[in-house]
Amino acid sequence: MTLSKQEKSSKSYFLNTEKALNYDIRNQVMQLFSSSSQTTSIEKEIDKILNDFSEDFLNTIDTNTSIDLDSLLGNFFESQIPVQPIDFESYLKCLGNNVVAHSIHTSSPQFIGHMTSALPSFVRPLAKLMTAMNQNVVKIETAKALSFCEREALAMLHRLIYNFSDNFYGQHIQNNLSTLGILVSGGTVANITALWCARNAILGAKDEFLGVEKEGLAAALDFYGYKGAVIIGSDLMHYSFDKAADLMGIGTQSLIRIPTDSNNRVDIQALRQAVVECRAQNLLIVAIVGIAGTTDSGGVDSLFDIADIAQEAQVHFHVDAAWGGPLIFSEQHRHKLAGIERADSVTIDGHKQLYLPMGIGMVFLRDPHLATAIEKQASYTMRKGSFDLGKRALEGSRPGMALFLHAGLNLIGLKGYEFLIDEGIRKTEYMADRICTMPEFELLAKPNTNLLVYRYIPEPFRELVIKNQLTEIDNQLINKFNECLQKLQRQIGHTFISRTTKSITSFGKEIPILALRAVIANPLTQEEDIDAVLNDQIQIAAKISL
Ligand SMILES: *Cc1c(COP(=O)(O)O)cnc(C)c1O
Repeated sequence: MTLSKQEKSSKSYFLNTEKALNYDIRNQVMQLFSSSSQTTSIEKEIDKILNDFSEDFLNTIDTNTSIDLDSLLGNFFESQIPVQPIDFESYLKCLGNNVVAHSIHTSSPQFIGHMTSALPSFVRPLAKLMTAMNQNVVKIETAKALSFCEREALAMLHRLIYNFSDNFYGQHIQNNLSTLGILVSGGTVANITALWCARNAILGAKDEFLGVEKEGLAAALDFYGYKGAVIIGSDLMHYSFDKAADLMGIGTQSLIRIPTDSNNRVDIQALRQAVVECRAQNLLIVAIVGIAGTTDSGGVDSLFDIADIAQEAQVHFHVDAAWGGPLIFSEQHRHKLAGIERADSVTIDGHKQLYLPMGIGMVFLRDPHLATAIEKQASYTMRKGSFDLGKRALEGSRPGMALFLHAGLNLIGLKGYEFLIDEGIRKTEYMADRICTMPEFELLAKPNTNLLVYRYIPEPFRELVIKNQLTEIDNQLINKFNECLQKLQRQIGHTFISRTTKSITSFGKEIPILALRAVIANPLTQEEDIDAVLNDQIQIAAKISL
């Protein structure tokens, strides 16, 4: 700050105002941090307003507001931080008008197009407790009981997958040398972590070689005599595996994507063949990936067969069950995951079918000592022999998301999750049946879990669909129509379905088909909501000209 001559001459006056200002900002800021009864009333005031926001938000059935993105982004063009603190009322008003009002109602029973849905109400007060305690699970010095609570919750799910003995869990659940699972921010980080463990374990220290962790990938491949390294899975592998291959230094081209059958399951013969070819070419297979619930259409690979292949080849077997993992809660549907218990690592997302808030992913490890392959230490924290959870994790500082996981497992329980899974699949079958009876729609695949792909067929093509006589040009027109339908539906915002592209073979040719994609996981979605979504699509389709 530069002072003019006049200002310099009245220096004492200037200092006084500066002091007054300082005093004011001090008061204002310290009030933000205080937990005295006075500020508690500010907290209560804010709570009241925010509770109203939440209540309105949660009670809205429409999935979206009709504001277009260009107008909306105009509300967020400020690049300067306010110099003085803004008062709560003005700020909350702005938040309500600009953010809350234009957020997606993921909990609406008619929002059935994505893997994000309604949450149980107990997570909302728990979120307050989590921020009140503000534990940092990176180390025991900043998160005491919560570190053990997290290990306990992870052990419960580990047991559901692997079902080892009481003795095994007694030995490992709270043993700081063991890692049954790692809590991370989502399925992406879980998949990356699993492959990171697999890579470091297979290219570990030996003789004079210090291991890939210390010497890097090029030196490791050289030492072990490999020409390159690959990861093998189906062509429906989630794009997080591209991120993993990229970060691990093997490159995305080293992801070998094996074709899938009409049920979205990896072709086992082709997978076996790929393993043989990689061996012949002297390529290291870091891991073979099986998918339990493809993001695209819910397909589940034949995990048992993949486990056989991985076992024969002595390769790390990873199962990406980010979406479908919780099928394991269901007596009726668990058999679809048969073989998952033979996986070396398993990814499950808490923020998908465990109905927990965004930011919960997990990787489970069959061998409680596998994660030592990625262990790091720092002298001021994460000491050897400590319970510091950050030493065997990609992430450093981490929030106490375990609170939600622990609460979910206890408050919903095995039977509760079983009910949620069974209901989702039952309602998906209902929707599939409805679609089959309506001439306006074509079911594109029989659902094997709770994802459904179908499309709208404009009137002139309906006969041809029945006779199986659609040409490639017809399909292109139908694709355009469905894309338009999906976009319009989202824009109008009463109901929501997402879209994807599937490949079908027709006349001996691979033809891309634009599919409407339903995800039926929201417990609030009832049969009449499903009917409403389909009727909405019929209404919208009537406005589209071919
Ligand atoms: C959602 C999903 C992921 C990625 O998980 P995020 O939590 O979005 O990071 C990975 N794999 C599958 C099969 C998924 O469904």
